[in-house]
Amino acid sequence: MPSPVPAASGHTADVLVVGAGPAGSSAAYWLAAAGLDVAVLEKASFPREKVCGDGLTPRAVAGLDAMGVDTSPAAGWVRHRGLRVYGGGQVIEVDWPQLHRWPDYGLIRSRREFDQLLARHAVAAGARLHECVTVTEPLLDDAGRVVGVHATAGDDRSPQTWRAPLVVSAEGLSGRLAKSLGLLRREDRPLGVAVRRYVRSPRGEDNYLDISFDLSETGPTKESMPGYGWVFGMGDGTANVGFGLLDTRSAGDVDHRAVLRRWLACLPPEWELDEEHAVSPLRGAGLPMGFHRQPAYTRGLLLAGDSAGAVNPFNGEGISYAMETGRMAAETAIEALAAAEGPAREVALRRYPQRLADEYAGHHRLGAGFLALLSHPELVRFATAHGLKRPALVRAALRLMGNLTDGREGDAVDRTVHALTRLARVA
Ligand SMILES: Cc1cc2nc3c(=O)[nH]c(=O)nc-3n(C[C@H](O)[C@H](O)[C@H](O)COP(=O)(O)OP(=O)(O)OC[C@H]3O[C@@H](n4cnc5c(N)ncnc54)[C@H](O)[C@@H]3O)c2cc1C
Repeated sequence: MPSPVPAASGHTADVLVVGAGPAGSSAAYWLAAAGLDVAVLEKASFPREKVCGDGLTPRAVAGLDAMGVDTSPAAGWVRHRGLRVYGGGQVIEVDWPQLHRWPDYGLIRSRREFDQLLARHAVAAGARLHECVTVTEPLLDDAGRVVGVHATAGDDRSPQTWRAPLVVSAEGLSGRLAKSLGLLRREDRPLGVAVRRYVRSPRGEDNYLDISFDLSETGPTKESMPGYGWVFGMGDGTANVGFGLLDTRSAGDVDHRAVLRRWLACLPPEWELDEEHAVSPLRGAGLPMGFHRQPAYTRGLLLAGDSAGAVNPFNGEGISYAMETGRMAAETAIEALAAAEGPAREVALRRYPQRLADEYAGHHRLGAGFLALLSHPELVRFATAHGLKRPALVRAALRLMGNLTDGREGDAVDRTVHALTRLARVA
């Protein structure tokens, strides 16, 4: 049970952000940029590893641009111009779309560097970052409202108490704070899983990100593998190689190492993607989708990023959505703190879940339908074998899946995607 409020002591802030991944650092940046006193509590110390594909789509580039992050190659970023898609014996290169709303390139950066860089960017905007501080539970007032957190700091785990009128939970999949307030994961929402490792490979330098829908071809029984494999050149002679199963509900028990081995065995041996060329162990983590923990605001606690389940069910992309929801949580907090404490503030805070629904519910519903299709391997085989022969169709599908359109103001494809998304939202 969360503990009651101890006598006033410890540290304070206008807003506490728990976790300094992309969601937490973005929330902290926007809060600090608005002049609020924000403290970020992060259990690790930077640089630290984060299991990820390290791929940033144009959506994520836009999120970084908005915060004024220098994403030039001179600043250490590797740019890519699109996707090379494999499936059913076909291969096609598709450039990121030319749109008004989104940039036409993506980026690669290891999360080891990316997360540190973003956290430092938030600090430069005025946020206070406290590393090696593990938040253990929420601090509640007599009414059961979150008014801070309990934490342990440093190697000796010395206890700390932090107080703030608002707390942003950006601690990733574990969602410890949300769970302790009774916000459990909704079992009816998809939960993906993904694994990756780095290899030294000739595919380490590439203008395109390789993705392959041939996972279901690899099993002895050609069983359902609702996901895709990837090879992302890191630009330093290594590649990030892995696969994601977007819906574990239909995948059953999976031996990840065996799936990876079988899939890699289908690829040209001269790419050198196998275990022999690995420079890191295979590691994996969950992909929480479909806003699986709801409501995203309760009793002084706002959820952002994986903590809320913000991953795109179409493709497992989570970094851009972590940054976007971090920003929305920050904007909600800024508006709420400008209102008088009490009902007016609460009204502002309760608008946050609706804002997330307005922004993403339609796309996530369509994504759930897509996952249902992916669970039929014969359908995936048919769609990739025939669909990949039609470049216009692939381009349209990737816009839909990547949530990259100009909406109502765009071309015929964008307007169709916009209409479908609206329909899905109200359905
Ligand atoms: C194998 C794999 C590949 C992926 N590939 C991609 C990809 O290529 N592109 C993409 O867009 N997405 C990808 N994703 C998804 C993406 O990694 C996540 O969606 C994203 O990291 C979510 O960001 P976040 O800030 O919400 O959480 P996280 O990145 O998980 O950050 C949470 C932070 O909170 C800290 N923390 C946790 N608990 C506590 C605590 N109690 N106290 C203090 N601090 C705490 C953690 O140390 C961490 O720094 C991938 C995921 C996996 C598993």
